[in-house]
Amino acid sequence: MSLLRVRNLQVNYGASQALFGVELDVAEGEVVALLGRNGMGKTTTIHALCRMIPSVGEVVFAGKNLLGMPSHRAANLGLGLVPEGRRCFGPLSVTENLVAAARPGDWDLSSVFNMFPRLKDRKTQLAGSLSGGEQQMLAIGRALMTNPRLLLLDEATEGLAPVVRNEIWAAIRSLKQNKGLSIILVDKSLREMASVADRAVILERGKSVWTGQMADLTEDRAARYLGV
Ligand code: ATP
Repeated sequence: MSLLRVRNLQVNYGASQALFGVELDVAEGEVVALLGRNGMGKTTTIHALCRMIPSVGEVVFAGKNLLGMPSHRAANLGLGLVPEGRRCFGPLSVTENLVAAARPGDWDLSSVFNMFPRLKDRKTQLAGSLSGGEQQMLAIGRALMTNPRLLLLDEATEGLAPVVRNEIWAAIRSLKQNKGLSIILVDKSLREMASVADRAVILERGKSVWTGQMADLTEDRAARYLGV
């Protein structure tokens, strides 16, 4: 069953149009890679889905039309965002960041600490004093604390050292394999995305131009649409 169905999604920033018709589906338990060169509309799409910016078109999530819904209600329905740049609350402790986001469900402090033991070791430390990788773990943990049905990961490995990046990818893989979580992924590493995503959607100038199985994203297609 389709968990998320997006049709003809359009977004304007003032007079300038950024999205011209994004089409995207996510089934239960599926991981979808949202691909495209810089500035093609990936983050705008994620923000529109979470209702952080206004849009037109069809966005149906868990059977409910999200358009016109404020972002906190979309979050209540189960959209969990890990935003680009992490956006942890710096003056709050690790635990306070996590608890502030909590909604009832399987994910709680102990299961998040289980997934990221480094957060447990630093639970009283202020988020602003964590390393980039620890802040990224906190941002993912905070989204999990909302007990999402769909996790949106926007550049979750950006700017991290390779060893920390590998830890984040391992966590993403485990969320898919062990928890069956549905995920939309935006990331620079096509290779890592190919190892975890089931399907891919490619955006070009604010429009979806190719959708298919990740395995069918041939080198030719990647070169044509992504320049890699
Ligand atoms: P990147 O990989 O560089 O983050 P992206 O695919 O996520 O790129 P977006 O950030 O969604 O792309 O940008 C899509 C288009 O919308 C770009 O042309 C960008 O300049 C424009 N845009 C994004 N945010 C704003 C904004 N706040 N105001 C005006 N235009 C914006």
